[in-house]
Amino acid sequence: MHNAALRAAGLEGWTYQLLPVPPELFTATARALGGAGFRGANVTIPHKEAALALADEASPAAAAIGAANTLTYRDDGTIHADNTDAPGLMEAIGDAPHATAVVLGAGGTARAAVWALREAGAHVRVWNRTPERAAALGVEVLPVGGPLPEADLLCNCTSVGLGDPSKTFKQLPLSPDALHRYATVVDLVYRPGGTALELAARERGATVVGGLEVLVRQGARSFRTWTGREPDLSVMRQAVADPP
Ligand code: NAP
Repeated sequence: MHNAALRAAGLEGWTYQLLPVPPELFTATARALGGAGFRGANVTIPHKEAALALADEASPAAAAIGAANTLTYRDDGTIHADNTDAPGLMEAIGDAPHATAVVLGAGGTARAAVWALREAGAHVRVWNRTPERAAALGVEVLPVGGPLPEADLLCNCTSVGLGDPSKTFKQLPLSPDALHRYATVVDLVYRPGGTALELAARERGATVVGGLEVLVRQGARSFRTWTGREPDLSVMRQAVADPP
């Protein structure tokens, strides 16, 4: 996605590369990248908290969420941390009503989603398989056994949907028919052809925001920060939908 956008922007000398790193080497590696010529880095599980901790400066979003997914290496040698997951999610939601929201999950992504939705003025409630984790998000926790209440928007931030699609509605306190309670359904999980949640929500007439659109939006924000250029979103969408 990034390499396609870099090429489309004519940034020929730039590349985006995968750099697997074990937790015990993360901080030293991430600190060294600026000196090695990297302009920035995206950071994912399980390094997002460590990325925030090593930075010299953090955006208000990263500081409030307690996790960073974007590091920027500045010319003066300092490292800036940002969280583009939260604003990327809100950009993907766009104008869809979200005065009330139910968030599923209590991991890092749920934390970003709860923060972003609350910042946008939403009344947010959270469901998680392990309710103790949900309690740490600072909003009303819904009973584990369900049923889930009605809301403008349902946002799946669990990893349910990554595995066997036939298990989705067994792992969540929700039946496909209950999806009519949500005008908009967001699924952070992405899989080719759509997740079971996405497909069922679309069948019932909901506005569906898929994980790939959120991925593109958060990536586009990192791209702008690093390059100072506007990425071509259609090129990024095409690259994630049909990877090389
Ligand atoms: P995480 O911190 O590991 O959290 C995982 C969440 O899923 C927890 O709430 C966990 O519940 C729940 N969960 C896992 N298996 C479950 C099951 N069988 N039944 C019910 N709940 C289950 O992960 P994360 O970073 O928040 O990421 C969550 C998902 O979002 C991942 O699939 C990731 O790929 C996706 N994601 C997408 C984007 C995007 O741009 N589209 C960005 C970030 C993440 P417990 O607390 O009970 O374990």
